[in-house]
Amino acid sequence: MELPFAESYKIKMVEPIRKSSRQERETWIREAGYNLFRLKSTQVFIDLLTDSGTGAMSDKQWSEMMIGDESYAGATSYFKMKNAILDILGFEYFLPTHQGRAAENVLFSVLIKEGDIIPGNSHFDTTKGHIEFRRAQAIDCTIDEAFDTTLDHPFKGNIDLGKLEAVLNEHSDEIPFIIVTVTCNSSGGQPVSLENLKMVRQIADKYGKLVLFDSARFAENAYFIKMREKGCEDKSIRTIVREMFENADMMTMSAKKDAIVNMGGFIAMRSKELHTKASVFNIMFEGYITYGGMSGRDMNALAQGLYEGSEFEYLETRIRQVEYLGKKLMDFGIPVQQPIGGHAVFLDAKRFLPHLPKEEFQAQTLAVELYLEAGVRGVEIGALLADRDPITRKNRYPALELMRLAIPRRVYTNNHMDVVAVALKNIYDRRDAIRRGFKIIYEAPIMRHFTVALDLV
Ligand SMILES: *Cc1c(COP(=O)(O)O)cnc(C)c1O
Repeated sequence: MELPFAESYKIKMVEPIRKSSRQERETWIREAGYNLFRLKSTQVFIDLLTDSGTGAMSDKQWSEMMIGDESYAGATSYFKMKNAILDILGFEYFLPTHQGRAAENVLFSVLIKEGDIIPGNSHFDTTKGHIEFRRAQAIDCTIDEAFDTTLDHPFKGNIDLGKLEAVLNEHSDEIPFIIVTVTCNSSGGQPVSLENLKMVRQIADKYGKLVLFDSARFAENAYFIKMREKGCEDKSIRTIVREMFENADMMTMSAKKDAIVNMGGFIAMRSKELHTKASVFNIMFEGYITYGGMSGRDMNALAQGLYEGSEFEYLETRIRQVEYLGKKLMDFGIPVQQPIGGHAVFLDAKRFLPHLPKEEFQAQTLAVELYLEAGVRGVEIGALLADRDPITRKNRYPALELMRLAIPRRVYTNNHMDVVAVALKNIYDRRDAIRRGFKIIYEAPIMRHFTVALDLV
């Protein structure tokens, strides 16, 4: 008999979590304005809000925490991080930042001016926020296949090269760089193929443009390349990572994802000149260039995390767990984005609750239902997140209304996944009875989803 698959680690420390009654949850979610971001973590049993900064560090990472160098300038921890970035990603220059959006803020302060256009594959919300905040525009050039959740395509994060060239043809003067997000978070944690990255590089060279990788989940992307791309089966993850990044001039990193730390990020680049320019903003916004908003111990844990996060055995354990949950849901007939992404399972709320109008926020309604059913916290990736058009102030309704279940790294067991799956099956069985969605009663002018308050329609 073939041995079943099991995790490539064992558990050394535990944190108790608490169950609650439906009645308690009804009170709590009402008090939170039906916004799951506004719940206390103690009111949540299984927290799949995000995989960002929620991972469990290893024994080696915790030991690195003990030997962090907290010197203001030139700390050994800075050089540990520098060496890991050069070794794994191949960039000579880097700047630490406190997280991914801070990296965007610093880099975009150098590169983006009003009226600019930034083409890419479904820009992440903070990325888009930092572009639009500078009165520039993000143009989505993701392949059309990504927007059909039923279609099984191995690389739904790919850039449509035709769309990209059309934008470059029309707006070449306004485009400072192209962004490729690996994996593509907004289209469902979907990977970009090595071939696509190479083609984007070629097109960028043709037009003399820089290429930025938004790299939060670069290692998961490399895992998918190894599993799915012809000719890459026998390559190591590290080799694939190096081949991916050969096509980029610079990267922004939210280390809270694939570097498995609770806080941290960085910008890395090949150009010394760009490093010098970005250093000015880094010092203003983040901190001196050898710590940029991170403590020495955190830089140590990040460096170690970059190595662990790009090991095949770890990635296999992680991505198989996400797939385990996705498969369970598919077996129950629940509509999910296919194929299952790297860090999360995305439910197609338009197909789950087709009778609910989009103006009543289908994905948010589903997320609230799941919380009420089992104390599980997911997150809406739909119209609330898409926000209003900055010019017309009209609500934007994206092609996909998704409810995301992001799986923290090395945190939950498959028993937890079983609870989530059965809770969703119960809701799916009574979906026709879900007749009321939500309306907004408070919203912030930008990135409203974090603080929005809702009420039942
Ligand atoms: C998380 C994320 C960011 C932003 O990083 P933070 O660390 O949350 O600030 C940017 N891009 C992508 C693709 C991300 O997943």
